[in-house]
Amino acid sequence: MDKTEPFYGPDFSQLVRQDPDVAQVLLDELARARGGLQLIASENFTSPAVIAALGSTLTNKYAEGYPGRRYYGGCEVVDRAERLAIDRAKLLFKADHANVQPHSGASANLAAYAALLQPGDTMLAMALEHGGHLTHGSKVNFSGRWFDVVSYGVRRDTELIDYDEVRELAIRHRPKLIICGATSYPRLIDYSVFRGIADEIGAWLLVDAAHTIGLMAGEAIPSAVPYADVVTFTTHKALRGPRGGGVLCTEELAQRIDHAVFPFTQGGPLMHAVAAKAVAFGEALRPEYRDYAASVVENAVTLAEGLAAEGMRPVSGGTDTHLALFDLRGLTDFQGLPVSGAEAERRCAQAGITLNRNVIPYDPEPPTVTSGIRVGTPCVTTQGMGVAEMKEIASIVAQAVRKPGAIASVSDRVMGLTATHPAYRREE
Ligand code: PLP
Repeated sequence: MDKTEPFYGPDFSQLVRQDPDVAQVLLDELARARGGLQLIASENFTSPAVIAALGSTLTNKYAEGYPGRRYYGGCEVVDRAERLAIDRAKLLFKADHANVQPHSGASANLAAYAALLQPGDTMLAMALEHGGHLTHGSKVNFSGRWFDVVSYGVRRDTELIDYDEVRELAIRHRPKLIICGATSYPRLIDYSVFRGIADEIGAWLLVDAAHTIGLMAGEAIPSAVPYADVVTFTTHKALRGPRGGGVLCTEELAQRIDHAVFPFTQGGPLMHAVAAKAVAFGEALRPEYRDYAASVVENAVTLAEGLAAEGMRPVSGGTDTHLALFDLRGLTDFQGLPVSGAEAERRCAQAGITLNRNVIPYDPEPPTVTSGIRVGTPCVTTQGMGVAEMKEIASIVAQAVRKPGAIASVSDRVMGLTATHPAYRREE
């Protein structure tokens, strides 16, 4: 090798030589991901270009502050990466202001709360048991400890957000902040209703679009940006970027959000991740990404219909997004026995299908057991699978859940799909 050749980024052979233990972990994880069906709704397969930016020397640079106003020297190059990420995010989401530094969705929420609230203030958010996130006021999270949290849920009959309850609670408790957005709510959220309620009581409206931002980017579902004061998001779900977070907001809140991210809740930004976010936003601005986002939703609808036909009841009757939630209480296996969410997760894992158990609204089972499972289509859609494959996946999942003894034939069918639609296909 030419010793004067500059080093640009990942050199896997170097890792193999220097640290075979860690190299083997990387290889095994890739084999695991490629070797099965990944139906976790919050995961995706990033492009090699995103991985290249993540594995770059930008990880070395300290850049506390913002482009043009850093607390370290030598930031003029990484400034360009952050400006690209900000400009692309603003263009992609038609937002006045974007902060691309949060390390994760939870960090983005922490910063948003820090910008808008004081400890002890009241917030109104969706209950964890009905699909909300830990950072929306769970007792085990800072949000539940530092704020006075009022929770809303879904109606028992429709399993849709109870907008009347949201309004009643808002009027009764006068929260300073209303949050909508969830981790396991399969339906569209009516942001205009939330905006109206927030305006009625003079509250801020925060949309946590961690799950759905990618679908908004591809215009497969309506955007929350025109309605929300602040939108927080993750970059690693349907959006298909690096693991990370971000915040969009109005011009009015721009300074407060920026100060809340740095210096209030974070130190130096991860500049390699910021560059990778710029790459992902660039990819999402391409027309192909719109097709991808539309296909993610179409695939989820087809998968939900297929699993419903197999006896799994889709919560709320179906999905408008990338994920679906199923109530397994009406299902029995080949022995006529009921199957919990945890047992379904275990049986699927044995057959190479990765999905997660999930509480369903009004679930009588604890979170360790659950009556439900959640499935999502961002990964399989990235692999190029479409409607025909979703029908096959529904049949495979049902077989895995109902007939744990038939693992060999289920695994064969899984391998059939992963062989024809591999993740990280090597370019010829
Ligand atoms: N908000 C919602 C609605 C989420 O679903 C998630 C993660 O799944 C988060 C926040 C937190 O994101 P992260 O895991 O990147 O901290």
